[in-house]
Amino acid sequence: MQKFGDKMEKKWDLNSLYTGFQGKYLEDIELLKKLIKERIKEINDNKRDSIIYIESVIKNDEKITILIGKLFSFAELTLSTDIINEEADKYISIITLIINDSVKAEVDFQKYIKNVDLEELKKSSDIINNYSFILSKLGKTASHLLSKKEEVLYSKLRKVCGSSWGKIQEITTSNLLCDVNGESKTLTETRNLAYSADSKVRKDAYYAEQKAYKSIEDVVAISLTNIKYESNVLLKLRKYKDPITYNLEENCNMKRESLDALMSAILEFRPVFIKYLKAKAKYLGHKKSLPFYDLFAPLGKSNSTIDFDTACSLVLDSFYSFSPKLGDFAKKAIKNNWIDVYPKKGKVGGAFCANLPYIRESRVLLNFTGSLDNCLTLAHELGHAYHGEIISDELPLNTNYPMQLAETASIFCETIMGKNLISKVTDKEEKIAILEQSVSDSTQVIIDILSRYLFEEDLYKKANNSLSASKLKSMMINAQKKAYLDGLDHDILHPYMWICKGHYYSVDGNFYNFPYAFGLLYGRGLYASYLKDPEEFLKNYDKMLFLTTHATAEDVTLSMGIDITKKDFWIDSLKVIEEEINELVVLLEK
Ligand SMILES: [Zn+2]
Repeated sequence: MQKFGDKMEKKWDLNSLYTGFQGKYLEDIELLKKLIKERIKEINDNKRDSIIYIESVIKNDEKITILIGKLFSFAELTLSTDIINEEADKYISIITLIINDSVKAEVDFQKYIKNVDLEELKKSSDIINNYSFILSKLGKTASHLLSKKEEVLYSKLRKVCGSSWGKIQEITTSNLLCDVNGESKTLTETRNLAYSADSKVRKDAYYAEQKAYKSIEDVVAISLTNIKYESNVLLKLRKYKDPITYNLEENCNMKRESLDALMSAILEFRPVFIKYLKAKAKYLGHKKSLPFYDLFAPLGKSNSTIDFDTACSLVLDSFYSFSPKLGDFAKKAIKNNWIDVYPKKGKVGGAFCANLPYIRESRVLLNFTGSLDNCLTLAHELGHAYHGEIISDELPLNTNYPMQLAETASIFCETIMGKNLISKVTDKEEKIAILEQSVSDSTQVIIDILSRYLFEEDLYKKANNSLSASKLKSMMINAQKKAYLDGLDHDILHPYMWICKGHYYSVDGNFYNFPYAFGLLYGRGLYASYLKDPEEFLKNYDKMLFLTTHATAEDVTLSMGIDITKKDFWIDSLKVIEEEINELVVLLEK
């Protein structure tokens, strides 16, 4: 593994959570058991006065939520850099079992909330008023609950159904080794070679990756189909109209018309992206359309690799140009070792940020190999961490934000970084390199995400029967053809995209694809507003991020003067990307 001569391993430091699975960790598990017992008793015993009852349940829940957050995060973060860590795995199961004990009481409480007049109660209680958004959502969701017995049974079975199928995908892909010209590489390492400046390396890596999937395709196909089957059964029992409706109501706090406006703008704009893909194919010397293995090929003069310290300086420089607060925040995250930097065997692929608002910190996982894309990812994940910092001021139960707004701060920070990088460049080849990186990323987030959305839509329709790996492959190919049109070579697509993207493997979090497109276009739209009036923008930006935890998506965006139910907003944001594409195409054709 390349280390760019730096002596540090650059692992994240989890000590502010716990120092290990002993001592304080075990004490906190005992405390959790005690609090859960009290909660069950509280819910069962005390329904005399609505306000006193609801307030005391909430106060107890605040303590439990903080404790679960700490215990779970420590185990899950440990597991994400060491996927076979048995202790972490064991404690996730233990905590899950402890929580499951309270399911029956939770159902009771939820059904109780459904029947109280929250509008009236919040007039006399600050606590109820502060939590009125999540309480009223709880009441609405109550109408989708099954019987108490069924909810308890399902919560007990979850670990061996949906969750375990997801785990199979995680373990098989984390442990998968690809033979790249005789050299054994992890899947993440191999997929990272798609960004190599050497065309032979990209092509060889692509074929090595495709070949490696063969050994796990049947197992992962079963796990994917079972997850979607389970999800279908559950949503039907819970009387949701369809998986999207569930997702919009439960995970997005968003109206269907906002999603429809977004998707219809994207479908309309496909030809703009195709223009870029064709120009890229021509630039790389392909006679036909672009083959999948060259989709991420860097164009222009790509400065071989950027070391991590340089990447950090670039991010800080960009963030400080936006606001000192954002710059100082990123500096703190880097200095205090919140980031796990390099890929290694047994570490999950990709990148993510975990907010830990109860300790006012976050952790960022990267698989940094020094590409320009990796640098943008660093800015992106630190954007998530900044969002986490803003919501640290919130009440303990108001720290979750919906999936599509989760990408707001990240995309915004990535945009600041990209714009800052390009503003410094005068050399044509270097300009192409940076501009192309940005356009390539947008193409992923709009067009590839469209293919994943179409695939998942199709998957939900068909998953009532088991689907073979070859069926899933042909479904993926069809989705890619519909999204990329003739922008990609139809003979060299990526039929296994369903294996390597972890987002499909969750029973509750379906359609974790359009949130990225939402995030990108909302972020770009915000950036356009920022340029128009930076001072005014800065006044509202943090407030808007704060609002994400307790308002509908429509209300959050309206606070910045944006109406997401209208296609016009999405079209305007897409036009910002179109300008970049036009600029790039001219440079490529010169
Ligand atoms: Zn993100």
